[in-house]
Amino acid sequence: MLGLIKGLGVTLKNMTKPKVTYRYPDEPLEMPDRFRGIQHFDPEKCIVCNQCVRICPTDCISLTGKKHPEKKGKVIDTYDINFEICILCDLCTEVCPTEAIVMTNNYELAVYGRDELFKDLEWLNQNNTKIRKENSTNLIKKPGGKK
Ligand code: SF4
Ligand code: SF4
Repeated sequence: MLGLIKGLGVTLKNMTKPKVTYRYPDEPLEMPDRFRGIQHFDPEKCIVCNQCVRICPTDCISLTGKKHPEKKGKVIDTYDINFEICILCDLCTEVCPTEAIVMTNNYELAVYGRDELFKDLEWLNQNNTKIRKENSTNLIKKPGGKK
C-alpha cells in the first residue's frame, strides 16, 4: 500500500512538470542550424569538377556531365547520391567550390524499399526547404517568386 502511494506521488509530481517528449512525427523536430542533414543540389551552380565524388569516403556520389553548349566548361547531366551508404559527413559540401551541394536540416529518409534511398538530381534539387541559414542564399529564385 505504501508503495502504491509513493508511486502515485511520483506520478502526480511529474504531471505538473514541463514535457520532455515531442509529438514526432505529428510535429516535426527543429534541428540546430549546423545539423548535417540530407543535401540540396543546385545544378545551375555545378561546374562538374568532380571534387565531391573524389572526397566522398563511401563512394556514394555518381555524376555525369557534358560540354556546355554555348561557353567553355561543362554542365551537369546526372547527379545521384546513394543514401544507403552516405554517412552525411559533410565532406562533399566542404570541398564544393561553388556551393552547388549544401547540407540541409532535413533528416527524414525513412522509406519502404532500399531502392528509394537512391536520390537523383531532381530529388536533391527539390530538397530545398530546410537549407542551413548560411547557405540559404544558395537557392535560386524560380519564376513566379518561388524559391
Ligand atoms: S555527406 Fe559524406 S558520405 Fe555523404 S555524399 Fe557527402 S561526402 Fe559522401
Ligand atoms: S564539387 Fe560541387 S561543383 Fe564540383 S561536381 Fe561536386 S557539386 Fe558540382
